[in-house]
Amino acid sequence: MRQVVILGSTGSIGVSTLSVLAAHPDEYQVLALTAATQSDKLLQQCLAVKPRFAAMLDTDAANRLATELALAGCKTEVLSGIDALCQLAAHPDADIVMAAIVGAAGLLPTLAAVEQGKTVLLANKEALVMSGELFISKVKQHGATLLPIDSEHNAIFQCLPPGLQQHTHDQTLKHYGISKLLLTGSGGPFLNTPLNQFNGITPEQAIAHPNWSMGHKISVDSATMMNKGLEFIEARWLFNCKADDIEVVIHPQSIIHSMVQYTDGSVLAQLGQPDMRTPIAHALAFPKRIASPVAPLNFKQMCDFTFSEPEPERYPNLYLAMAACAYGQGATTALNAANEIAVAAFLAGQIRFTDIARLNSMSLEHFADFRVSTLDDILALDEDARQQAQLLLRKLI
Ligand code: NAD
Ligand code: MG
Repeated sequence: MRQVVILGSTGSIGVSTLSVLAAHPDEYQVLALTAATQSDKLLQQCLAVKPRFAAMLDTDAANRLATELALAGCKTEVLSGIDALCQLAAHPDADIVMAAIVGAAGLLPTLAAVEQGKTVLLANKEALVMSGELFISKVKQHGATLLPIDSEHNAIFQCLPPGLQQHTHDQTLKHYGISKLLLTGSGGPFLNTPLNQFNGITPEQAIAHPNWSMGHKISVDSATMMNKGLEFIEARWLFNCKADDIEVVIHPQSIIHSMVQYTDGSVLAQLGQPDMRTPIAHALAFPKRIASPVAPLNFKQMCDFTFSEPEPERYPNLYLAMAACAYGQGATTALNAANEIAVAAFLAGQIRFTDIARLNSMSLEHFADFRVSTLDDILALDEDARQQAQLLLRKLI
């Protein structure tokens, strides 16, 4: 039995992970579940899978959870605070850690798992965006296994030659005859919306993704295509490559999840339903395959596949992220922080959809040349960039 810790179990990826695990009760056991504040949802999950531990970021929520679990006669031990999350991610009995906290908040618990050489299933792309170089060096130093959950990166991983799958962090794509990683994205809900209507886009419209059902933050990021920008940076670190090696392609049907182009002209693609339970099942069992509850593709019912280039006027955030990737780790840390502030303000109805890119652009301009190397540098810059973004935000409100 492999013991699994799910960081962010109450979120969209967390729930999908539990759904895959439920289909394989003889192979996986849930060691710990964690969440920020939603004690009711975590209570239901604990009652269903009876983990040894549960942790909540919020102490009051943890107390509520502990009381309810005791009343129900469930023996799950409840912990609280960020240190508890890190402790569970690094627990000696944990084999697999699903890193599915949203945003920069996931960095410390994810690194705690890496530092214990765990198999880390990485959904929390922001952790890699803000600390890529440091993160990957820790993966190598501690012999951790890093498997991508983001559907695009999971697709690319599946299309790599087996030799490179084992050595993604220290071999080059060129050595294996790879000429390009083709990162596909649907273009989000506003692919065909006239640009002059962008100012009036509401949070409800932005979170209504045409193909994927996801948490609010990543849904807004998909609508601005900042998500693809973060994924561009994520790919650069996961696959030890340069910005020039990655190309973003719009594929509105979300059936091809990304592709790898080889120097001989071959292109390998991974296809599947837009359902995160496929990459989750792949990474959980890698290098084996296990069944997931996802319906198989039916090619007889499939419509056309189309491809196009993302327009810079429609998706300024994508291009800001690509620029940040070229500047370096300070720029990507700051852009990620600014974007988290901007998206939260947009979801709270404080700024317009188009203000997200304005705020991100101002932040990138300010922090583009900042250099960071240690974890302390990264956390300090993340904090500075958040404060700066809050100041910029006041000008926009
Ligand atoms: P979500 O908002 O649905 O869930 C987030 C989870 O993180 C929740 O369990 C929440 O309790 C926890 N959390 C939030 N803030 C926290 C904090 N400060 N400290 C500790 N825990 C905290 O998000 P999601 O859509 O499941 O996405 C999770 C991550 O996976 C994100 O980084 C996202 O980019 C990535 N991802 C998601 C999808 C998807 O389909 N949802 C696809 C690819 C990648
Ligand atoms: Mg993705």
